Amino acid sequence: MLSHTSQFAHSVKPVPVVDVPAYDHETDVLVVGFGCAGAGAALEASEAGAAVTLLERASGPGGSSALSGGEIYLGGGTPVQAACGFTDTARDMAEYLIGALGPGADEDKIRLYSENSLEHFEWLVTQGVPFKNSLWDSPTWVPPTDDGLMWMGEAAWPYNEHATPAARGHRVQSEGFGGKVLMDRLVDAVSARTGIEVHADTRALRLIVDDAGRVCGVIARRFGEDYAYRARRGVVLTTGGFVDNEAMLAEHAPELVGSAKVSDGGDDGLGIVMAQAAGAAVRRMATGQVGIETIPGYMTRGIVVNGHGQRFINEDVYPGLVGIEALYRQGMDVWVVLDEEAFEDVPEAERWGLQPTHVAETVAELEKEMGLPENALQHTVAEYNRHAENAEDPWFHKSSRWLRPLRAPFAAIDVRLGMAPPEGATGGGNGAAVFTLGGLTTDEDGRVRDLDGGAIEGLYAAGRASSGLHGGGYISGTSLGPGTYFGRRAGRAAAGVQQ
Ligand SMILES: Cc1cc2nc3c(=O)[nH]c(=O)nc-3n(C[C@H](O)[C@H](O)[C@H](O)COP(=O)(O)OP(=O)(O)OC[C@H]3O[C@@H](n4cnc5c(N)ncnc54)[C@H](O)[C@@H]3O)c2cc1C
Repeated sequence: MLSHTSQFAHSVKPVPVVDVPAYDHETDVLVVGFGCAGAGAALEASEAGAAVTLLERASGPGGSSALSGGEIYLGGGTPVQAACGFTDTARDMAEYLIGALGPGADEDKIRLYSENSLEHFEWLVTQGVPFKNSLWDSPTWVPPTDDGLMWMGEAAWPYNEHATPAARGHRVQSEGFGGKVLMDRLVDAVSARTGIEVHADTRALRLIVDDAGRVCGVIARRFGEDYAYRARRGVVLTTGGFVDNEAMLAEHAPELVGSAKVSDGGDDGLGIVMAQAAGAAVRRMATGQVGIETIPGYMTRGIVVNGHGQRFINEDVYPGLVGIEALYRQGMDVWVVLDEEAFEDVPEAERWGLQPTHVAETVAELEKEMGLPENALQHTVAEYNRHAENAEDPWFHKSSRWLRPLRAPFAAIDVRLGMAPPEGATGGGNGAAVFTLGGLTTDEDGRVRDLDGGAIEGLYAAGRASSGLHGGGYISGTSLGPGTYFGRRAGRAAAGVQQ
C-alpha cells in the first residue's frame, strides 16, 4: 500500500540544524499558512511584541477560509444574540457543542472556547469583521441575506435536553458566502502591522530541528529555490487539512474517499505530515465534515430515509449531522421524501435550484420509482403521519415546528445525484461534500504533542492542520471560530506569552 509520505516529491523528515549552513531569513515566530488560523496566530504573536513572518504557498492569502460561508460559531451572550432576543451562557454553548461535536469531542477546548467566546467576538469586530444584528430563522446552509445570526441545530433533540437552545451561528455580514469578507478584514489587519512580513509563493517543505529536538525553523521553496527560515521562538503550522491528499484519505479516512471535496484544492496535509515526521501525534484522523448535498429546508419539512425506506435521524438537527449519519452509517444511500406543500414552503432563493428526482400521487408509486422494498416507505410515511397529526415524533423527536402529515402529491430527491437539478446531474459524486477534521494533537495553547503526550518544543499548530474541538460530529462555524481563536492562542504562546 502507498505510504502517505510517498505523496510528496521530497522527504518530509526534519532537517538537523547542523545540516543548515546558513539561514536566509530570521524571525521570532514563523507562521506557515495564511488562512484564518494563520492570520489569528500572526496578529497575536505580533501584538505580543514578536517579529513575525508568514509563509504562504499560494500567491496570496485566503486558503479555504476565503471560500467559506463565513459562519462563525460564537455565543455566551454576544451583542448580536442580545439584539436578536437571545440570552445565552458559556455553559449552554459548551454543553451543546460537547453533544453535537461528539462522541469524543475535546471537552477542555470546548469549555475554554465557550468561556472566551465573547472576547473572541470582540476581537473579530476589532479586526473590522462586520456582523449584522438580525436573525435568519429558517434551516439552510447559507442564508441568501446578510443576516448576522442563524440556528445551527441548537433547538433539536437530544441537544435541547442538555442545554437551553440559542442561535449561535454568527455570520460575517455579506450577501451569501462571507469567508472572503472575513479574510479581507484579517488580511487588512495583518497588512496594518509593520512587524509582520508575508512571503507568498513560499511553500514550507520540512521542519528544522536542533540537537535537543526543538523545532527552530523550516526549509521552504519559492520558485524552485530552497530557503532556510529560522524561527527564534516558534513555528506555528496553520496549513489546513488533508482532504486533497488521496493517499492520506485512503489511509486515515477511507469513508471520505469518493466524495466531493470542500476546500481550496490545496489541503494536501503536508503540514501535518512534516510534524508527524518530527514525532507529532495526531488525533481523530478518520473524522470529517459531511455536507449532504441537499436542501436543509426540504429535509426538515419532509423526511430523510435510507435504502430500506426508514428514517434514521430527526431531520431538524444541523444538516451536517444528517450528512455524517448518511455517509458513515448509511453509505449515502439516502433520499429526501417530501410533499408539494413542503416543497412550496421553501422560498425559491433557498432551493439552490434543486428539484425532486421523482414525483408520484401515492407513496406506493413513489416507493416503486425509488426502487425501495415494497411497503418500506409506505410503512414509514404512515407511521410518521399518524404521529405528526398530533405534532409528535416518538421515533426521533423532531420538533413540533416541523411536524405535519405528508400528503399527495409526493416527491423524492435522490441525494446521490448531488445539488445540480436532475437534468444537469452527472451522477458522478455520491451526494456528500467533505473536508477532514483530524490533525495534529495540540494543547489549549496550540503546542503540538508528541507520542508521549509531551510538547514538541518550538512547534505549534491551529486550524484544520490540528485536531480541533471535534470528536465524531461537526457544526458549521466550528472551523473559522476555533481556528481563529486557537490560532490566536498559538501565536501568543509561540511569542512566549504565558496564558
Ligand atoms: C466552500 C466552503 C465553505 C465553508 N464554510 C464554512 C463556514 O461557514 N464556517 C466554518 O467554520 N467553516 C467553513 N468551512 C471550512 C473552513 O473554511 C476551513 O476549515 C477553515 O477555513 C480552515 O482554516 P485554516 O486556516 O486552518 O486553513 P486554510 O484557510 O485552508 O489556510 C491554510 C493556508 O495554508 C497554506 N499552505 C498549505 N500548506 C502550506 C505549506 N506547506 N507552506 C505554506 N503555505 C501552506 C494554504 O495555501 C492556505 O492558504 C468552509 C470551507 C469551504 C471550502
